[in-house]
Amino acid sequence: MLAILKAREEADTLEVRELPLPKPGPGEVLVKMGAAGICYSDVMILKNKYKGRVPVPVPMIMGHEGAGVIAAVGEGVKNLKDGDKTGLIPLWGCGQCHHCANGNPNMCRSWRHLGITCDGTFAEYRVVPSFVPCKLPDGISMIDAAVLEPITLAVRTLEHVRPRVGDTVAIIGPGSIGMFHLQAFKSAGASIIIVIGLDQDAQRFEIAKQLGADYIVNASKEDVVTRVKELTDGLGCDIVVEASNHPSTVGQAIDLASAYGRVMLFGLYPEATISPLTLMRSGLSVTGDVAVTPAWYQRAIRWVQYKKVSAEPMITRTFRLEQAKEAFEAFYEGRSVKVLFEM
Ligand SMILES: [Zn+2]
Ligand SMILES: [Zn+2]
Repeated sequence: MLAILKAREEADTLEVRELPLPKPGPGEVLVKMGAAGICYSDVMILKNKYKGRVPVPVPMIMGHEGAGVIAAVGEGVKNLKDGDKTGLIPLWGCGQCHHCANGNPNMCRSWRHLGITCDGTFAEYRVVPSFVPCKLPDGISMIDAAVLEPITLAVRTLEHVRPRVGDTVAIIGPGSIGMFHLQAFKSAGASIIIVIGLDQDAQRFEIAKQLGADYIVNASKEDVVTRVKELTDGLGCDIVVEASNHPSTVGQAIDLASAYGRVMLFGLYPEATISPLTLMRSGLSVTGDVAVTPAWYQRAIRWVQYKKVSAEPMITRTFRLEQAKEAFEAFYEGRSVKVLFEM
């Protein structure tokens, strides 16, 4: 079977390799992968810029987003059977520690995470513990199933910022995370949603409009803070999501928030400058978080099942595993909103 690996410790050692078909042991299942998405953290791992809780092992099958169909079950597996369509919950905790006991395996110091601490989703087949694949209801496409993990990040945001009906929302960065948030806040009753990007995001702006963005602000052409204040009667936004992939937008996110605004940060950068005085004067709540929990994943399934959130409008083309280099180049180039492999 084909798989995409980070082959060695050096940066950029992307390799497509033929590997033996794995067999599920007791308590494990074999998943025939259907689709898997590239995430910014995959790129960080490939470039040796990812700082995790444990070093990333090599060689490692990359990828943590993905979905597939159960192809075989190991001894003792009762929750799944051949042919079940499943999304993969990419992480699990030790089950013993304080964080696991509190339902937060994403905070477990000895977590396992597909494509980060162990083999991931960019392969034709994967053997995983039987609690990793989550059986999906009918009517969810393989593409939407494959992006349930990043959609879960939008569930996580809403859990943190607790949107109220009529809230004004700014989303910095019209990438896939931004687009999932746009759809999520739309269905949560936001009054206006402002999507902020740059000249190079022209195509993404069109998709954002199609998905219901009320206003587009092009930071290459206009002053973002002035424009957002204009659009919100001088108040700024109740909720700001920073998902742009540039440290300068962290400060901007804070400047865009209204009094008692809630700001959710996605940037994976170690440094950015913010003003604590602004946080105090405006009574802001600034939140970050890591990865997903099974509880949030279940909510993401519902959003997708009931057509509230979907990746379909963002997918312009998909790649085969053997086109790994091309797919990563498409990701760097940034013209596709979401880069997906179909196996
Ligand atoms: Zn991700
Ligand atoms: Zn734990």
